[in-house]
Amino acid sequence: MQITKDDLAKLVVLQEQDKVIDILEAAIAEAPGQIEALRAEADAEKTALAQAKDRLLKLQLERKEKELDLAKMEEEIRKHNIELNAVKTNEAFRALQTEIDRCKAEAGELETRTLEIMERCDSLLKEEKAKTAKLKAAEAVIQEKISGLEARKSEDEAKLAVEKTKREALIVGLPGLVLTHYDNVRRRRGGVAVARLNGNTCTVCRMNQPPQVVVNLAKGNVVVCCESCQRILYSAELAGAKPA
Ligand SMILES: [Zn+2]
Repeated sequence: MQITKDDLAKLVVLQEQDKVIDILEAAIAEAPGQIEALRAEADAEKTALAQAKDRLLKLQLERKEKELDLAKMEEEIRKHNIELNAVKTNEAFRALQTEIDRCKAEAGELETRTLEIMERCDSLLKEEKAKTAKLKAAEAVIQEKISGLEARKSEDEAKLAVEKTKREALIVGLPGLVLTHYDNVRRRRGGVAVARLNGNTCTVCRMNQPPQVVVNLAKGNVVVCCESCQRILYSAELAGAKPA
């Protein structure tokens, strides 16, 4: 494939331009995932808070239940105590006394459980307050990060448009076949299509080239590729003389 020294020099500049474009495109492509991850982080904090609130609510309901049960039990004890005055036989008196004792024991258990629940509610309330404060702080930080990422993405998109315009200008006049070959090698070789030859070594893949490759490149006029990585080779002199 024929190529002039000027066109080869253009490819070297084009490669630098494409590196800039690749970096911008990678950053733009990464942004949505990073934003999504931050949103998931905020959602996880929200879920943790909702769960803490739910636990507290359930305990508060249980506490109300126990308090009602306790009130019922106390009412029963009060009734039994009145009934005690009306019993006629010792047997009935003992039976009622046993029932009162049972009610008192149950009331005692209900009181203990109510106290336990109240303590647990207190600690959950503290936990909920701490989580709410943490969420508020985390949300602010996360939102700031998201705004930063979104702003940077917009900036990168604007920069990318400018850099793509520069690329369009760079490829003007390049033979179609040369450009297609360059694009193909770039796609296959991790975005790097050209490689400087240093002595007889390809500076990208570090493989030494046979003498014929070195000779062909020195002669100019044709596209010479690295025998190992297939990248388009250019000489050190060309690199030094590359247009700005
Ligand atoms: Zn190579």
